[in-house]
Amino acid sequence: LKVTAVPVMRRGALFDGTVLVINDVTRLRNLERTRRDFVSSVSHELRTPLASIKGYTETLLEGAMNDPENATAFLNIIHQEAEQLTALVNDVLDLSRIESGKIAYSFEPVDVKPQLEKTAALFEPAAARKGVRIELNAPEGLPAVLADRSYFDIVVRNLIDNAIKYVDAESGRVRVSAYATGDSVSIEVADNGIGIPQADLDRIFERFYRVDKARSRELGGTGLGLSIVKHIVLAHKGKVEVRSRINRGTTFTVTLPVAGA
Ligand code: ADP
Repeated sequence: LKVTAVPVMRRGALFDGTVLVINDVTRLRNLERTRRDFVSSVSHELRTPLASIKGYTETLLEGAMNDPENATAFLNIIHQEAEQLTALVNDVLDLSRIESGKIAYSFEPVDVKPQLEKTAALFEPAAARKGVRIELNAPEGLPAVLADRSYFDIVVRNLIDNAIKYVDAESGRVRVSAYATGDSVSIEVADNGIGIPQADLDRIFERFYRVDKARSRELGGTGLGLSIVKHIVLAHKGKVEVRSRINRGTTFTVTLPVAGA
């Protein structure tokens, strides 16, 4: 608490009392701390791929370049780390924009089924490369949800992208479904992948929280996808839930209000 005392004087400079102004600065201070933590996490996350790029470049310059096989392997790693940096910078920018609360969402009725079909189709090539099957399961005649189409798409993309990342190659299955629940529509992305330990379930929506940091990074993850999802869903007055069993799979459910409800 910040307390300011202001003496109140009557005309003729007679002391008449004191006004106490009490400001609750807890929220402000917490915001400041969150911002500082964010900057420090981002710096840390940037450092890892940068260190690797520096290391491999130096090795190449010191002579590894003369061995074409090694050189190609090192250049591939450098390229992959640069991709990781790009993903990180994009996610950080997205998240800070979304978190600032300054986004002007253009809410409109969004027809869920065709939207899911379009997004799922975008992932077909990546899924096929890994031998993963994507299945879509949405009835005709679902009510439209009130959403910003492009942010709705970011949510679904993040969930499908994760599902593909965290299933095994060849036996992986991802099921995207939608169903009406009263005044809302639920969109479910379910996979038969590695699952999330019960103890981590509460934390996966925090920025940079990953169950297995090395694995996430190797798969091109930034640890920000689910924070982005959570913020967008909350801005839509919806909710996001997760159920998971180790080695059985994970199901994320996003529930959004129906347009006009
Ligand atoms: P990342 O970029 O690391 O995937 P996210 O914020 O999207 O970051 O997810 C946070 C963490 O939650 C992941 O690192 C992973 O440990 C876990 N996770 C998310 N989705 C799944 C899933 N479908 N199956 C298993 N684990 C998941």
